[in-house]
Amino acid sequence: MSRYLSRRYERLTPYTPGEQPADMGKVIKLNTNESPYPPHEAVAKAAAVSAAGLNIYSKPEWSELKKELGDIFGLEEEQVFLSNGSDEALNFAFMAFASDEAPLVFPDVTYGFYKVFADLNGIPYEEIPLGADFSLNPEDYMKPGRTAVIANPNSPTGRCLPVSEIERIVKACRDNVVIVDEAYGDFCGESAISLIRDNENLLVTRTFSKSGSLAGGRLGFALGSRELIDDLNRIKYSTNPYNVNSMTAAAGLATVRNADYYREKCRKIAETRETTDAALKKLGFTTVESGANFIFASSDRMSGEELYRRLRDRGILVRHFDSERLSDYLRISIGTEEQMEAFLNAVEKILEEK
Ligand SMILES: *Cc1c(COP(=O)(O)O)cnc(C)c1O
Repeated sequence: MSRYLSRRYERLTPYTPGEQPADMGKVIKLNTNESPYPPHEAVAKAAAVSAAGLNIYSKPEWSELKKELGDIFGLEEEQVFLSNGSDEALNFAFMAFASDEAPLVFPDVTYGFYKVFADLNGIPYEEIPLGADFSLNPEDYMKPGRTAVIANPNSPTGRCLPVSEIERIVKACRDNVVIVDEAYGDFCGESAISLIRDNENLLVTRTFSKSGSLAGGRLGFALGSRELIDDLNRIKYSTNPYNVNSMTAAAGLATVRNADYYREKCRKIAETRETTDAALKKLGFTTVESGANFIFASSDRMSGEELYRRLRDRGILVRHFDSERLSDYLRISIGTEEQMEAFLNAVEKILEEK
């Protein structure tokens, strides 16, 4: 920290991303919930074509992409906000809708970035403990005067809240925005997007990073009423009008136009998740039922930290969280069938060696 850093940021603890190893050659990467499958071949082509025009500023609007995204969900172009990863949409939404008068509330076990964005923007927040089984009690979020943020499915647990429960929360908090982070929505089958039509205070964020095999492209979006999207645009045009670059927008459009390819990959990942879950249970693990592309699991034969380290020694990266409540657990992203076989074999050997 230099002596010039504004005092506003002195106490800020930045988000810690999962490791991105420099040499990916031998590593089996199951730590940041990326898709193990490459983008559709049309995506690289579209990005390359677009690269030829990089001397021109990217369009601030990207109407075509917004329109096609809107069509998928039965919404107007004006109800779609594009962002540089959904992290940016979340940050903008916190800036736009949360404040001293409408502090943030989110679970004690959830996406680590919520706290960071709250601190970055000086917004107070309250963490509400999840149940012992990591379940969320909707009643906890139904008090007015607060801005609720709910990841559904949640991370790192993978648990889903039924959309009917989201609806109760949204209706109970009419004077505040409810932000539903559906980064893993494509793996879960249920979505709050259908509630947008009747609920002007609901904002849903989504990302191409996980189900769209585009984590490196940085493309996310938010869906909501025209008024909420207008508010997000107010922040965007005061920060970075060109937040989505040309190559990424072209890649996103090619992704949307090849939806069948991605649907099939999501189906495959969900299938691999179920076989992995069953195999982990056979090895004595406790797992949380997941509606996402990862499994949250713990073994009473070895601490999460030790298992994490031993897997790492074998070139397999999973995610371990330091906090006391989560220290027994590992979050394991679902890779290809072959990757998960290698992972399970390694776990078995590690437990045997002990
Ligand atoms: C991955 C993730 C995001 C954001 O990812 P982007 O790559 O910025 O789109 C948001 N919320 C949750 C819960 C996530 O796991």
